[in-house]
Amino acid sequence: MSLDEALWNRLRGVAVGAAIGDALGMPLEFGPASPAARPVRTMQPGRLPAGAFTDDTEMALALADSLLAHTPLDPTDLAQCFVAWYHAGPADIGRQTRLVLKRISRGEPWEAAVAAVQTETPWSAGNGSVMRCWPVALAHWQDFDRLLADSRLQSQVTHPHPECVAGSAFVNAAIHHLIRGTARREAIAQACDDADLSAALRQVIMAAPANGRGDLPNTGWVRHTLESAVWGLLTTDSFEEAVVQVVNLGDDADTAGAVVGALAGAAYGLHAVPAAWRAALHGEWPLQSGERWEAAKLVALADRLTRIGRRGSAPSEMTP
Ligand SMILES: [Mg+2]
Repeated sequence: MSLDEALWNRLRGVAVGAAIGDALGMPLEFGPASPAARPVRTMQPGRLPAGAFTDDTEMALALADSLLAHTPLDPTDLAQCFVAWYHAGPADIGRQTRLVLKRISRGEPWEAAVAAVQTETPWSAGNGSVMRCWPVALAHWQDFDRLLADSRLQSQVTHPHPECVAGSAFVNAAIHHLIRGTARREAIAQACDDADLSAALRQVIMAAPANGRGDLPNTGWVRHTLESAVWGLLTTDSFEEAVVQVVNLGDDADTAGAVVGALAGAAYGLHAVPAAWRAALHGEWPLQSGERWEAAKLVALADRLTRIGRRGSAPSEMTP
């Protein structure tokens, strides 16, 4: 594989990896951790059929649509893309996201809507913006300043808490370094510096690999999601094992799965994603359109996003 092919393979791995982690975690969401000796390793049915991705990937696809229409990111357009998804009746939606989108759908500007919700619950720092942020890393893979700015901006539309905003910049900075072949531990350390993390969040992330699986609460708090995802990336040696270990922590399994899937997809590339998982992956986008999404469409989307910021050669044709 040439260097260019390796790079494209990693860029595609981000999109497919995130959706795979989401779908593998879907049946484990809100459950207890699986027994360490018997983790779930295959796509299982849950609230949705086996292999179905959830709101994490749907919101990422809304972000991708907005980036394809407007670059750099237009937060007003992004808010409307999210509202269109909300109106279509998603199977699940995070609390903070629902409160903000409800206000925007009544006609409030996004800035006023998100400020009102955050004023009611100023401590709210959920993982709803880090789970969907990866399309920015693909659209701006050659423009790191814009990558950081739009990663933060996409969070501010629904999740303005400083740790959500910085956490989104962290995830996409890590993806940026990983797709270039930076070693995993070094990529995480660099991303901590790039993203201007709070001292507390930085400490959680840097200490993550020292945890045992019993130490990881894996709740919907952005700190817990980033802790689990970094733990999975740095304590395993394959895409499969990283995602398996994280989703089997239970609780917010699909969201932690989406984040570690994006990171591990960047580290190991599309070809490292087990074929059986890719074959089972599916969803509908836009919601209520009847349009079925499978892994091949996510590969095509990754290529379209990558072309937004492309100054190099076109990706070679590779089958997903
Ligand atoms: Mg979900």
